[in-house]
Amino acid sequence: MRYGHNHLYVPGPTNVPHSVLSAMHVPMEDHRASDLHELTKPLFADLNKVFKTTKGQSFIFPATGTAGWEVALTNTLSPGDKVLSARFGQFSHLWINMAERLKLDVDFLKVPWGEGAPVPDIEKKLAEDKNHAINAVMIVHNETATGVTSEIAAVRKSLDATKHPAMLFVDGVSSIASIDFRMDEWGVDMAIAGSQKGFMLPAGLAIVCASQKALEARKTAKLPRCFLDLEDHIKTNANGLFPYTPSLPMLRGLRASLDLLFEEGLENVYARHHRLGEGVRQAIQAWGLKLCARQPKWYSDTVSAIMVPEGINGADVVDIAYRKYNTALGAGLTDVAGKLFRIGHLGDLNEVSCCAALAATEMAMLDVGIEIEAGSGLAAAIEYYRKNAPAADKKSTAGQARAMKSGSDMKQTA
Ligand code: PLP
Repeated sequence: MRYGHNHLYVPGPTNVPHSVLSAMHVPMEDHRASDLHELTKPLFADLNKVFKTTKGQSFIFPATGTAGWEVALTNTLSPGDKVLSARFGQFSHLWINMAERLKLDVDFLKVPWGEGAPVPDIEKKLAEDKNHAINAVMIVHNETATGVTSEIAAVRKSLDATKHPAMLFVDGVSSIASIDFRMDEWGVDMAIAGSQKGFMLPAGLAIVCASQKALEARKTAKLPRCFLDLEDHIKTNANGLFPYTPSLPMLRGLRASLDLLFEEGLENVYARHHRLGEGVRQAIQAWGLKLCARQPKWYSDTVSAIMVPEGINGADVVDIAYRKYNTALGAGLTDVAGKLFRIGHLGDLNEVSCCAALAATEMAMLDVGIEIEAGSGLAAAIEYYRKNAPAADKKSTAGQARAMKSGSDMKQTA
């Protein structure tokens, strides 16, 4: 029998805050109501703020991150077009696989899992491509499978240094709204996010932002597309509508989620994720274990992938944490299955939530025979969080305000 609530620390779906849950708890509405634009138009404008773009255009699809990949590829490219990518985890693998299945000519760099985008190699490929045959470079910003964050600004520098006109497509599914992301500054042409990570919503929205260059490429792109055609969205979004029935509860939830992100401030959201991630990393170091990410410059602030010692199956840690301690951790995927487990530290979490994750992880690791000292990682994280958490505000802390808001939201629906 399970008791208490399930503690969710997979790297998406993430915990949905009460105010977001309450906002979604609404009777169904007319999706062509004459005032719908009052809800939807500000959503597009506010998503641009999250993507950090003034020039790009945000789109919302009733789909998931995977569809976002397809939006980027099919709306900008033609069969046989060449794309350059790097495979360094399950999600970069799947995106490359999609590009191949869409009959694109994919050149990808094979990178050991645990490393990030190989910028010098990418630059070399771009420099060698004198005829500019490469139409787009596709990079996963935060590889959720390995807990590796790549430097998108450096990829942009390579494109600029080689004066290469290729478009830059970035999967920000587990980074956008949690880790610093700058669409305009980094010259990103297609940025892809999903609702179930930093946006703290259920899965169900693919959130995509296109640069003017990508929108222009659309006019000659010949890959077949229908449900995911930006054209239909551009036409209907202009009036605050969608080409098909949108999930209005999800859009109401997105409104509440954006309000929370802006209330905290995006820079504070990034700083919090860095702090939470760093506390988890302190714990891993105290346990004497290693991250899959091979260098500190690649450490992800949204997910830590923890290598288990030889002879231990990482999947057992995840299984015991779930069945015995009612705590969901992330398993190792495909190439790293069994070799690691993951702690997702993104979304609606604070220092105490991360301590709970670490406590459950310690208990599960001890149960499967990993020789760590009980409490050692938790103690390291506690020390780090005490020293680095923002000072308490005696008047009204953001946390209290949020708790009060959640409480009143809950009363409304009670
Ligand atoms: N890209 C990354 C980095 C992801 O972590 C995920 C899912 O976890 C996806 C893409 C695929 O997104 P979805 O499962 O929403 O289709």
